[in-house]
Amino acid sequence: MTTIADNLQRVRARLAKACAAAGRDPATVSLLAVSKTFDAQAVAEAAAAGQRAFGENYIQEGVEKIQALRMAGWAALQWHCIGPIQSNKTRLVAEHFDWVQTIDRLKIAERLAAQRPAHLAPLQVCIQVNIDAAPSKAGVPATAALDLALAVVRLPQLRVRGLMCIPDQAPDFEAQLEVHMRAKRLFDYIRAQGAAGLEHFDTLSLGMTADLEAAIHAGSTMVRVGTGIFGSRARGSA
Ligand SMILES: *Cc1c(COP(=O)(O)O)cnc(C)c1O
Repeated sequence: MTTIADNLQRVRARLAKACAAAGRDPATVSLLAVSKTFDAQAVAEAAAAGQRAFGENYIQEGVEKIQALRMAGWAALQWHCIGPIQSNKTRLVAEHFDWVQTIDRLKIAERLAAQRPAHLAPLQVCIQVNIDAAPSKAGVPATAALDLALAVVRLPQLRVRGLMCIPDQAPDFEAQLEVHMRAKRLFDYIRAQGAAGLEHFDTLSLGMTADLEAAIHAGSTMVRVGTGIFGSRARGSA
């Protein structure tokens, strides 16, 4: 039987191999375990195997797991919201998550800033970019990413950490690399502005189970892996 701990070990080995192939220090790529649709027990198993950062797509489901894990004594886990956020869910996100990777509208950022409790650390946020410009997809166009980042840095209780992209699946390594490189160039461009408030812009959240090698080759600093750790999902988005 394959356990979550075994899977984690395999994914870590893939990351190490991809870093070696790309000539990168493995310490520069972090692993986000995407636990959507899996229960608190699965998260606890991954945590027991040393995993600390978890990504959730569905707010209510995520908050229930955050609370369950805290009650089970896992206080030091880091929770990332990686799903779309409706206005009526911003308070839950602001009160429970550590990171939000799906900022693509100023209005949502404003609500999160206003609702982030003062006793908590600033919410770490990434701008979501529709990097392959696929129609009717979440994320700002690449050309609007800098402006949105500069607007969000002016808000209290938020820290702008970088970019997040979910490109459509590409057939092979070369095609994956091509789109990931677009994200990397945009990331470098925004960093090169040296704008006030962007001092912490250090995160390029790119790559999932199917394309993490190409993402790491392109310069991803955070890969988001669900299936590779927890197995296939019975329901939920890809
Ligand atoms: C589901 C999901 C993932 C993980 O996808 P896998 O293919 O299972 O690794 C990563 N990022 C986002 C935004 C997701 O929704």
